[in-house]
Amino acid sequence: MFRRVLIANRGEIALRIIRACHELGIEAVCVYSQADKDASYLHLADRAICIGPGPARDSYLNIARLISAAEVADVDAIHPGYGFLAERADFSEICRDCKIEFIGPSPEAMKKLGDKVEAKRYAKAAKVPVFPGSEGAIEDEEEAVKTAAEIGYPVIIKAAAGGGGRGMRVCHNEASLRTNLRNCAQEAKAAFGDGSVFLEKFLEKARHVEVQVIGDKHGHAVHLFERDCSMQRRHQKVIEEAPAPGVDRKKISAVCDSAARLVKSADYSGAATVEFLMDDEQNFYMLEVNTRVQVEHPVTEFITGIDIVQTSILVAAGEPLPFRQKDIKIEGHAIECRINAEDPAKGFMPSAGRIDTWRVPGGPGVRLDSHVVPGYTVPPTYDSMVGKLIVHAGSREAAIRRSSRALAEFEVGPIKTTIPLHRELMADSAFVTGGVDIHFLERRLK
Ligand code: ADP
Repeated sequence: MFRRVLIANRGEIALRIIRACHELGIEAVCVYSQADKDASYLHLADRAICIGPGPARDSYLNIARLISAAEVADVDAIHPGYGFLAERADFSEICRDCKIEFIGPSPEAMKKLGDKVEAKRYAKAAKVPVFPGSEGAIEDEEEAVKTAAEIGYPVIIKAAAGGGGRGMRVCHNEASLRTNLRNCAQEAKAAFGDGSVFLEKFLEKARHVEVQVIGDKHGHAVHLFERDCSMQRRHQKVIEEAPAPGVDRKKISAVCDSAARLVKSADYSGAATVEFLMDDEQNFYMLEVNTRVQVEHPVTEFITGIDIVQTSILVAAGEPLPFRQKDIKIEGHAIECRINAEDPAKGFMPSAGRIDTWRVPGGPGVRLDSHVVPGYTVPPTYDSMVGKLIVHAGSREAAIRRSSRALAEFEVGPIKTTIPLHRELMADSAFVTGGVDIHFLERRLK
C-alpha cells in the first residue's frame, strides 16, 4: 500500500482525497498556489508545498513543479482529482517514468477512451450503444455528405479531441454541413492541436444519463449504476441524482453492463464515467468517456455505499477490486446540488470575495463536500464551485424533501450563491415529477 500520496489539485476535491487517504492510513501531501495559501484544508494535510503563483498554468497545470513537489515530499503516488491534469495522458506517462504511481488509468488506456473517435471504436466492439454517424474521423467531404443523408439531419460535427462543450457544430442541411466541416476542422486544429472531426446524429431532446465504472489491474471492471445529470446550464451540470428517475431498469441495466465491458476491453484501471444521451424512447447513445473521478461521484457513493475515491487508490496500489458486480445494489435515492459563488438573479455573475456567514446544514442523510470555512475568501482565479450538498433518503420523494430542508438551513453571505436557485428547483413541478431534459433549465431561466 502507498505510504504517502500527493494531491495535484485544490478545493473540495483536494479535501475529499485527504479524507480518503487518512481513512486508509496514508499520508496526504497537498500542493497549493499562492492564491490558495490560506485554504483551510492545507491544515489537514500532512504536508503542504507551494508550487507557484495563482494562474493554473504556473501551478496546478505545471507538470515540472508538481513532479518536483512529489520528489521533495518523497511520495509513492499522485492523485490528480478532476480538471487540471486529470485527463492528460502525458502527465500519467511522466508519473510512470518517474516511478510515481498515477492514481488513474495508464496513459495507453487514457488515450484509448479519452479520444472521442477512438472511444467510439472501442464502444462499438464492446456493444455499447453509440450514435449513428461516421466511421472514425472524416477524411472526405463527399463521404460525410453521404453519411449525413443516410442518418438524416440534423447532424452534429465534433472534434475528436474536443472538450468542455467546445468544438461542436449542429448542421440542419447539406449546405451548412459543407461549410461547417471546413471551419470545424480548422478550429479544432487551432484549439486542440488535432483537426480530426467526426459526424453523428443530433438529438433535439435528450436526457443526460451517465454510468460510473471502475476497473482494477487484474482485468476486473464493474459498474456502480447510473446518474442523471440533465439539469444543466451552458453544458455545466447543476443538479445530479441517482438512480435516474423513470428509466426502465432492464434497459439501463444493459447499458450499465455495456459500460463495464467497455472499460474492461480497454484494460482500464481506476474510476471512469461513460456518458450517454437518452432519447424520448429511452434509447441510449454514448457521448464520451471521462477518464477520472467526477464532481458528482458522491451521489453514487450514497446509493451504493462504496467509497469511489478510496477504491481508486486501492486499485492504483495494485489491489483487486474488493467487490463483484453481484454485490453492488442500489439503496434509496441521492441528489447533489452544486453550490457556486454566482448570482442567479444577475445572470449568474461570478460573486468572488470573503464569506463571513457560512452556516451549513446537517442531520440524517446530509453530506456537504466543501473546503469553505467562515472567513474564507473565494479567489477569482479558479472555478466558482464552493461546495456540493448531497443528500440520501429512502425514495426520490424523500430525497427532494430532504434537499429542500437542508437548503433551507444553508446560509451563506455576503457573497451570492446558487442556493436560492436550488431551493426553487426542489419545488419545481417538472423536477419533482422527474425526467427533465438537458435544455429544461435554460428554458426555465428565460
Ligand atoms: P464535451 O466533451 O465538450 O463536453 P460532449 O460530447 O460530452 O462534449 O457533449 C457536450 C454536450 O453537447 C452534451 O451534454 C449535449 O448537451 C450536447 N451534445 C453532444 N452531442 C450531441 C448529440 N449527438 N445530440 C444532441 N446533443 C449533443
